[in-house]
Amino acid sequence: MKRICLCMVLVVSACFARTEMLPAENDLFAVMRRQMVDRQLKKRGITDNSVLKAMTRVERHLFVPQNLRDEAYRDSPLPIGYDQTISQPYIVAYMTEAARLGPEDEVLEIGTGSGYQAAVLAEIVKEVYTIEILKPLADSARSRLERIGYRNINVRWGDGYKGWPEHAPYDAIIVTAAPVHVPQELKNQLKVGGRMVIPVGAYFQELYLIVRTDTGFSQKRLLPVRFVPMVNGKGGLIKT
Ligand code: SAH
Repeated sequence: MKRICLCMVLVVSACFARTEMLPAENDLFAVMRRQMVDRQLKKRGITDNSVLKAMTRVERHLFVPQNLRDEAYRDSPLPIGYDQTISQPYIVAYMTEAARLGPEDEVLEIGTGSGYQAAVLAEIVKEVYTIEILKPLADSARSRLERIGYRNINVRWGDGYKGWPEHAPYDAIIVTAAPVHVPQELKNQLKVGGRMVIPVGAYFQELYLIVRTDTGFSQKRLLPVRFVPMVNGKGGLIKT
């Protein structure tokens, strides 16, 4: 009898322990992330498995300001300071899919911001080069990505308008700030067969896919978008 009682006490206390134990915050974020992938990405037609997997893995809440963590998996862009934003998850997934990436690719990103898009790219490709014009954002993205453990992302502080010629040519270039025209220097840094995904325009912007062919470039308009403008070192809008 004593034994049975002891067993019952153990079972009951085990049950209580279980109900009292709140799921770890990280598990909650993982649930929110899976919902984001199902509801915002798969439902809207993102099918590339490597993109869906990357978006499921990268912890978006680590890339937004502390006070906005609970909103990290919402269907919208969010402020990251300095008047800049982290893009809506769907747009990140859409641009990544449009770039048709593979595991051996070397990719250039213009507009590091929080580093989120760079992390998504780094899950899929071999090496990511990313340029950010605002020093505090470049510095915080670099240390954040290092802390998380990415070893295949190179962050540079500077003007990305002219690309990063030292590591060119690239298999893909993803631009996450909008110039008024497609910078020729960036086109020149694509490999033959390389893809560039870029928002273009001042107020009304369109996302373009530009592919370098044997003989030149093909250009396809994908969808209307709204990105922060690509600026030059003095904070002015780049117009050429
Ligand atoms: N990809 C980012 C979001 C981009 S927001 C993310 O995943 O969080 C656009 C970023 O482009 C801003 O941080 C802005 O400072 C930067 N930017 C604007 N003009 C630039 C330029 N000429 N060169 C490099 N970065 C630029």
